[in-house]
Amino acid sequence: MALIVQKYGGTSVADLERIHNVARRVIKTKDMENDVVVVLSAMAGETDRLIQLAAGVSSGRQVKREYDMLVSSGEQVSISLLAMVLNNMGYKAKSFLGHQIKIITDGMHESARIQKIDTTLIFDELRNGNIVIVAGFQGVDSNNNITTLGRGGSDTSAVAIAAAIKADFCEIYTDVDGVYTTDPHVYAKARKLKKISYEEMLELASAGAKVLQQRSVELAKKYNVPLYVKSSFNDDEGTLVTREDRDMEKEIVSAVTFDKNQAKVTIIHVPDEPGIAARLFMPLSDQNIIVDMIIQNASIEGHTDMTFTVPKGDMGEVQQILGEVIKDIGAERIDYDENISKISIVGVGMKSHSGVASKMFATLANEGINIMMISTSEIKISCVINEKYTELAVRVLHDAFGLEKEE
Ligand code: ADP
Ligand code: ASP
Ligand code: MG
Repeated sequence: MALIVQKYGGTSVADLERIHNVARRVIKTKDMENDVVVVLSAMAGETDRLIQLAAGVSSGRQVKREYDMLVSSGEQVSISLLAMVLNNMGYKAKSFLGHQIKIITDGMHESARIQKIDTTLIFDELRNGNIVIVAGFQGVDSNNNITTLGRGGSDTSAVAIAAAIKADFCEIYTDVDGVYTTDPHVYAKARKLKKISYEEMLELASAGAKVLQQRSVELAKKYNVPLYVKSSFNDDEGTLVTREDRDMEKEIVSAVTFDKNQAKVTIIHVPDEPGIAARLFMPLSDQNIIVDMIIQNASIEGHTDMTFTVPKGDMGEVQQILGEVIKDIGAERIDYDENISKISIVGVGMKSHSGVASKMFATLANEGINIMMISTSEIKISCVINEKYTELAVRVLHDAFGLEKEE
């Protein structure tokens, strides 16, 4: 007997037939004498629809509380439907919203972080023989406001609950049967990985592979939660995300990924003085805007250009903030480019191999793809390129690093 958390994503609960399919999977696990906590996303497309509704009413910072109240509602529908289906099939099941469980978060609406989960109710309900179904993506702050955890946040809800109740493992059921060497919907030659380390998965998620939300991998790593990524549509073996171990593939490059959600900002003719970067970036971080890659050009006659990337969704706010800031620091103007994408290669083997970056640059150059920005970590190299070359870049890099070969 095990204690298992299963999370089903939007496509897995897209309609009543698929919710029945989820119910059958949950029952199979329950019938094997396991305790099951199920975390659900909203039905596919529902969160997008709610976001569109919000966009039609208003914009601006003051509505974030109500925005979260609205966009969190999709999960209430899916969890109650699953509970009804399970009840009809003769199983005891109860659904709960984040605030009912007491999934406590900070007050950062739209991208709240979980601080604490009260496990009392979950354990009481499991003890009563219930399948416990929890709404993903949402929590409540200390002032009783509903919060949401950022797009894809149900993954994080599931892992956080698994960590809190000390589940034996957490299963993430989605529309692909594991973590691949690249998004299998973009390149058919992508190969499924049997295992991947938390570190590599973290880099992949942060570089745009939306199969797992980045924060969920951080939590899994921190609390050592074994994480399986599987398909809700078949019984194929999935991918285990776990600690790096000796029998793990020591590929130099394990995967290629891309992120089309970044935009490039260039501040022209910035005075090159101490304190300028802080004055530029502080107002952005104060608004919780994540600045990713940063480049500062060589200084000419006391002035320089500064280029960085921010999430596309934050562009409105960024323009508003920087409009004020450049007056303050005496820069000339700002250029924006939303037609970019970030291509990354990830692999633990990079730590001990040279020539990986130059191979990446040469591969892109051979296709005439211009590199606008570069950044590296110990196990990742990222390049910003024109968005229209994204899929081509993924394919040629996947080929160049031989990722399609048999295991
Ligand atoms: P869910 O709604 O179940 O949370 P998501 O759409 O958030 O599902 O995540 C699954 C998707 O992630 C897949 O359909 C796939 O297109 C995408 N993806 C991106 N990179 C990868 C990768 N390396 N391996 C597997 N899937 C990936
Ligand atoms: N429903 C939310 C979203 O679409 C959370 C999730 O699917 O994980 O982002
Ligand atoms: Mg997701």
